[in-house]
Amino acid sequence: MNPIIEKYDIHIQHAWVLCLDSDFTEYRDSSILIKDGKIAYIGECLTLEPGQASENIDGSRKLVIPPFFNGHSHIAMSLFRGFRNDVPLKTWLEDYIWPAEQKYINPDNVYLGSMVSGIEMIRAGCNIFADMYFYEESVAQAAEELGIRAIIGEAILSFPTPNKKTPADGLRYTEILHKTYFDHDLISLSIPAHAPYTCSLEILEDISALAKELSIPTAIHLSETSSEVEESIDKFGLTPPQYIAQSGFLDDHCICHHCNFLSDEDMKLLRKKGASVISMPNSNMLLASGIAPVKEMLDTGLVVGVGTDGAASNNNQSVLNDLQQLVRLQKVKHQDPTAISARHALSIGTINGAKAYRMDKLLGSLEEGKAADMIIIDTDKPHMQPIFDPYAQIIYSMQESDIESLIINGRFIMRERVIISFDEERLLARATRFSKNLK
Ligand SMILES: [Zn+2]
Repeated sequence: MNPIIEKYDIHIQHAWVLCLDSDFTEYRDSSILIKDGKIAYIGECLTLEPGQASENIDGSRKLVIPPFFNGHSHIAMSLFRGFRNDVPLKTWLEDYIWPAEQKYINPDNVYLGSMVSGIEMIRAGCNIFADMYFYEESVAQAAEELGIRAIIGEAILSFPTPNKKTPADGLRYTEILHKTYFDHDLISLSIPAHAPYTCSLEILEDISALAKELSIPTAIHLSETSSEVEESIDKFGLTPPQYIAQSGFLDDHCICHHCNFLSDEDMKLLRKKGASVISMPNSNMLLASGIAPVKEMLDTGLVVGVGTDGAASNNNQSVLNDLQQLVRLQKVKHQDPTAISARHALSIGTINGAKAYRMDKLLGSLEEGKAADMIIIDTDKPHMQPIFDPYAQIIYSMQESDIESLIINGRFIMRERVIISFDEERLLARATRFSKNLK
């Protein structure tokens, strides 16, 4: 009698796989078996019975790695891409971005901007993004339609936002979103406080209390510019991390964005509280904010991931691009080519984001039982050969267009550079019409 033959949805064979697990396991000639949205097997190459996998993919001359984790963005801001660059952060926010948001941001436009960024992120090999913006149900709608994962987060500020008049209204809206997306396959939640200079201690306390009740992370822009730190010390006698720590906001569910100006004591405080950091080098360079002490934070034992920030201050939504800039910046800053290796850089762009958001049991590395999320990279290009070190190839040579396919939850979202079942051209035409009216 024949033993029962297990069936699989997808078999990717012969690829060079970088697992990004804690041992940095690699398989030069591999098999990956996908079943019901999960990785059923990953290891040395197998020969299956005919028909045992519904689909067989030849991975020869390809690299397979976990997709990129975008730890922070304002994805609908693709609508403001290129709108008033070349000004300081304070001027940019107060004179241009906040007034434009009050005027133009509504559910339809948030959906439109989110679709544009969503497509861009898919084409850049990203399987998940953490958002901080307004009308987050429109962000979730776009993510669901595209099949990309999202950590949605309605931004809380002391003053009225385009969506909600008060912080309390924003928190009530978050509770509704939590009920709607509880246990959703792709969508989860965080509660982002905009920044210490736009949120009072009382508001931070309320956010922290609700986040604990719902068991979801909090987030905040923190110590982004030197003037933010100086003003905080002048006003409160405390650095921004010390200030927010007074409210109990800084804890092991808190993800701090930017952190360009942390003292050694600030880093130790974040470490002691169990907080994580997301670094945004492209946005920091464009706004001339500063260079984050990424190497120092890693040396302190902090989890540091990477994000793109919004397309209005980057101006792309490519984690790969930010990661490539981050590594080079750290090498220049320390005048040390060993400051961060290519291998560790790739872990910053993948598993570290998952660790920061406590999603590493499911995402961030390729391991049996984890979600079948991965990207397939074409190495059959002049700039990708020869391959002495695949990590170096990805961090120092790879271009976004080398990302051939993206699989999320065991499903092809992009295949050979084509986003499955979505009319990209029609959407981009709609976004272009929006930008023509922008003043
Ligand atoms: Zn931001």
